[in-house]
Amino acid sequence: MSTKKRILIVEDEPEIANLIRLHMDRNGFAADTVHSGKAGIVEIEQNMPDCVLLDLMLPDLDGLEVCRRLRRAPKTENLPIIIVSAKGEEADVVAGIELGADDYIAKPFSPRVLVARVKSVLRRTSPAESQEKANGVITLANELEIDTERHRVSVRGEPLSLTITEFSILKYLAARPGFVRTRDQIIASVHGGNTILSSRTVDVHVTALRRKLEGAGRIIETVRGVGYRLSENPDGA
Ligand code: CA
Repeated sequence: MSTKKRILIVEDEPEIANLIRLHMDRNGFAADTVHSGKAGIVEIEQNMPDCVLLDLMLPDLDGLEVCRRLRRAPKTENLPIIIVSAKGEEADVVAGIELGADDYIAKPFSPRVLVARVKSVLRRTSPAESQEKANGVITLANELEIDTERHRVSVRGEPLSLTITEFSILKYLAARPGFVRTRDQIIASVHGGNTILSSRTVDVHVTALRRKLEGAGRIIETVRGVGYRLSENPDGA
């Protein structure tokens, strides 16, 4: 039995499917390809993968519907899903993330980024590697430490003065490094659904947060047209 992680590629364009598969194979994954949304659902039902790379525009069932169905079924509610979308589909990507997709890659993608995203999602979903310690302290790259209980943030031991909103945004992103969050998800997390922030002001808070984090601020990545993600490795992929 192979212990390779299984990646299911749901993509109707054969060249793109083959290209993704090639990069997965080269990087030690066992990849399978299906060419429609329904085929994806059937394949996942019969042979559970470790991660799904999901195109949005698909024959029969579109990617958003696939995502919705997977998240609704207890067996697949935590199955890692990465949306692979074309240009101009940002609104659908946002919808997909809000339906519970874990991450997003835009076509045309760089193979390095593709592989990094897959590894990141697989790593994040393995329970042994939780970033948060029992004492509520999250430690990230660049020696950034977030004490979620005491509401304190420090970089290389130097405490930072963050506003409550800045702290809440950082804590929310840091809870799952490597996962994209939309502006609406950030707003909901900060105010428990009682929307005081607008999308525009999320950007303003993130800009201020990055400035206060100085060099470590690069850890907060902008995902164009979608939202933000905390990078685990801002200087790498
Ligand atoms: Ca397509």
